[in-house]
Amino acid sequence: LPFSDETLLSPRDVTGCFSSTYLEAREKFLRICECNDLVVDSRLNPNTEGSRGEQLYTDIVRIGPADAPKILLLISGTHGVEGYCGSGVQTGLLKSGAFEFIPDDTSVVMIHAINPYGFSHDRRVTEDNVDLNRNFIDFDALDRPKSNYDEIHDALLPSDWDGEGRGRADAQLAAYIQARGMRDFQAAVSSGQYQFADGLFYGGDRETWSNTTLRSVVSDYLSDARLLGIVDFHTGLGPYGHGELIAIGSSEDKARAQAWYDGQTTDPEKGTSSSADLDGMLAHCIARALPDADLAFITIEFGTLDVNKVLSALRGDNWLNQIKNRESPLRPAIKRDIRAAFYPEQDDWKQSVWSRSRKVIELALNGLAKTSLE
Ligand SMILES: [Zn+2]
Repeated sequence: LPFSDETLLSPRDVTGCFSSTYLEAREKFLRICECNDLVVDSRLNPNTEGSRGEQLYTDIVRIGPADAPKILLLISGTHGVEGYCGSGVQTGLLKSGAFEFIPDDTSVVMIHAINPYGFSHDRRVTEDNVDLNRNFIDFDALDRPKSNYDEIHDALLPSDWDGEGRGRADAQLAAYIQARGMRDFQAAVSSGQYQFADGLFYGGDRETWSNTTLRSVVSDYLSDARLLGIVDFHTGLGPYGHGELIAIGSSEDKARAQAWYDGQTTDPEKGTSSSADLDGMLAHCIARALPDADLAFITIEFGTLDVNKVLSALRGDNWLNQIKNRESPLRPAIKRDIRAAFYPEQDDWKQSVWSRSRKVIELALNGLAKTSLE
């Protein structure tokens, strides 16, 4: 089931699928759905608005029969600003007619902008400063996942962004890395924390809107699926333009992903990934919601800038979000940095995102096709 050459897009068409704002991205997605006679299910986030005062929606579309036992699920915007990448790919796939000849037992479901607030505001987090991919924990449980984040919170969020406080904080982080090593530092920063609502990689103290919405979409669209290939699009880790395939889930699910993707998948638990091992991920939520389905879940991570630049951009954006800093004259520079860290707008990056994604989606469809249902 290889994609035919007819599903190739010209370089110009590829760049045309990517956008400069959430509004533009949504409009392109809706337009290409309309051209394909697809019905879009739009879910309004009633709690907040976009950076231009616009209403914020997560849009869902299904290609293929509603009762298909095999489903390919493609998710964009889990981390807000990273949505430019996944949205461009989703629009590109529809534009290229990639799904015109999928088998009768298969459907494709796309979730566009699951975190529309972060997408519109060029932030990685939701409207409540929550990292959605750390928010899928059991909030009724007494214990929260533990990390060493508390050891570095103060240094990650300095008193000022361009003065002595920043200098002291950077020195403190450098000392931590020196003493503990880069891997432990990355885990402390990014594995998720549930103590500091004003901090980085905060998992929240309740389910955020995007969490509730994701779970209702899973129940509405996926509850009858027996075999699911899932691709969640991310940016900001790894080499520029490279798409690392991070397998998430049970060991059985990871083995399935490894087989589908020609042995290319990495595993944070084994330390083979550029990502730390995480708690409360969207993948865990889907697996729990569909206990009888077989899954092959990958997070695809497209690299952007050097990891230090990405972390610095995240710290700046978090600093800027503190109420006392919101009117800072540093705002334009900080917003430029966060955007560049998660969305390099160069054409070569978009081309490499597209060609890698197209191959990955082809492998996913092949994986679904060659796996027989018991
Ligand atoms: Zn991400």
